Amino acid sequence: MGKSSSLSEYWRLLDLAEDYLRDGFRRPHPPLLAPRREALPPSPAAREPGSAGLAAIAGEVSACTRCALHRGRARAVPGEGVPNPLVLVVGEGPGAEEDATGRPFVGKAGQYLDKWLKAIDLDRSSNCFIANVVKCRPPGNRDPAPEESAACLPYLRAQIAALRPRAILAAGRVAAQILTGLSVGVGELRRRGHSYEGIPLEVTYHPSAVLRDPSLRALVWEDLKRLKSTLNDA
Ligand code: URA
Ligand code: SF4
Repeated sequence: MGKSSSLSEYWRLLDLAEDYLRDGFRRPHPPLLAPRREALPPSPAAREPGSAGLAAIAGEVSACTRCALHRGRARAVPGEGVPNPLVLVVGEGPGAEEDATGRPFVGKAGQYLDKWLKAIDLDRSSNCFIANVVKCRPPGNRDPAPEESAACLPYLRAQIAALRPRAILAAGRVAAQILTGLSVGVGELRRRGHSYEGIPLEVTYHPSAVLRDPSLRALVWEDLKRLKSTLNDA
């Protein structure tokens, strides 16, 4: 027991070191940031079928063994936010901090994403929901393999059906390609109008990509403004 937990601590530290090399320093916060369900505001919608559906999906995800990614996870990361959101943000998959806390987009990229959302009056605690294509962390932050995305997709589809968001924002190539069904890059996809099952879909770069390449910031801002005007038109 002692041996395996010190081994898993060892892997966790290696993961954090790797994230540091990829994205700069991320503050490790294991039990401190355990999922804080009470952080979500109480809302009348919390009693609606959609939200019961969401809790059921989260329960299934936490116990899921449909693909090999379950073997390496500390925690599955089903997603968080409000029912009936204005925007559902879809990322790629959990990183080290998300895996440790069970919450989506809480590392450096996540803090940056929160700033993007705030700039257009969006926030995961009041009018957004944040989820990922795969709910368990791919080792070494690699892209999810096609069979892993395919195995996990029913959960995202069920979340979209339960959430009924006003719009979807796909952040990065993996989410953009899955949701559009097109295998071209974000640079190509972001300029086109898309929809997913009748819901307007905007494509933009992944916040980690923008942290690495600040020249993408202006393009992301264009995408966010387009998302905002889609919401205003809806
Ligand atoms: N990157 C993602 O795509 N999703 C997360 O939840 C965190 C980082
Ligand atoms: Fe299940 Fe998705 Fe995790 Fe794979 S990534 S084990 S399909 S929840």
